Amino acid sequence: MSSGALCTGTSPAAAVLAPLGRDGGRALMLGHVHPDADVLGTLLALGLALEARGWSVTYGGPHPAPPALDFLPGVERYRRLATLDGAFDVAVLTDCPNPQRTEGLIEQARRASAVVLNIDHHPDNRRYGDVNWIDLSAAATGEMVYELLLALEAPLTPAIATNLFTAVHTDTGSFRYSNVTPRTFRIAAALVAAGAEPAFVSQALYERRAPDALRWLGEALRRIEVSDEGRLAWLALPSDGVEEALVESEELVNYPRSIATVRVACLFRERGREVKVSLRGKGDVDVQRIAAEFGGGGHRNAAGCTVDGPLAEAMRRVLAAVRRALAERKGPSAASEAAR
Ligand code: AMP
Ligand code: MN
Ligand code: MN
Repeated sequence: MSSGALCTGTSPAAAVLAPLGRDGGRALMLGHVHPDADVLGTLLALGLALEARGWSVTYGGPHPAPPALDFLPGVERYRRLATLDGAFDVAVLTDCPNPQRTEGLIEQARRASAVVLNIDHHPDNRRYGDVNWIDLSAAATGEMVYELLLALEAPLTPAIATNLFTAVHTDTGSFRYSNVTPRTFRIAAALVAAGAEPAFVSQALYERRAPDALRWLGEALRRIEVSDEGRLAWLALPSDGVEEALVESEELVNYPRSIATVRVACLFRERGREVKVSLRGKGDVDVQRIAAEFGGGGHRNAAGCTVDGPLAEAMRRVLAAVRRALAERKGPSAASEAAR
């Protein structure tokens, strides 16, 4: 692991700007596994800004962009990468706390690139870049790349603004989560002024369901279980179950989370021999610590991990860890509250 420069401000330090400041060069925009709108929107925004300055940019990662994000301007350029061709002046990773989340591409990127730039807002970031810009106060890396483009004096085109607006929109749950700050709205306002259209983005994300998607969603929601005096709720989807692709951009874990009493919500999705787990909290339990027990990560209120199946075994292990965290949190005062 390289031990490069560390910057933590809300604006990019000189070390972050240096590898991007010149006119022309070759850049790699490297995404994390199962890319979401925060990583795609930021890589596309920065890449498009560099291209406008004469750079040649390669966009890709271990998995292709999901069809649900096919509306991001420039996303057709983002490819699944197995090997990297040629050399790069800079490789940029955004929203990627752990180099393992590139499935080995980071090793190739290191060999092929003069500088690896790591731009992220996750508390568990491993600082694997030559230059690491980690701003834990940013709701999305979309906010950070907005500041970066401002510092680079890059013009905010509607395409760039739409990418960054979508990044911020999704990582904040449409501006609803506890990570939202005044800065989030200031940046969102600037992006809308620059041509991002909130109604277009909302419709593209949430109103492109297939005709039977709601029936499927109903089937899935029936499976929600609530336990531990209402403090724990989960939804488990076996791989032989209903077709999940119908609601691809649906944040299914938000349904168990939306129950008033719930402190921790879990979504278990069986994928072959593995089970993908999403964890959500409401501020009192640090779900990132639970995910970390299983080799995963994320944020205090939104984290995930991938554990071995079968589904029932994965659920047993993860739910036990959640219950331990809830019990720790409960402490003597909450215990007496429960006894009332
Ligand atoms: P998700 O539940 O997939 O929406 O992810 C929520 C948060 O947890 C995001 O910040 C992800 O980066 C992180 N996360 C999800 N799965 C993993 C994993 N297997 N390893 C590390 N972090 C993860
Ligand atoms: Mn992400
Ligand atoms: Mn993010």
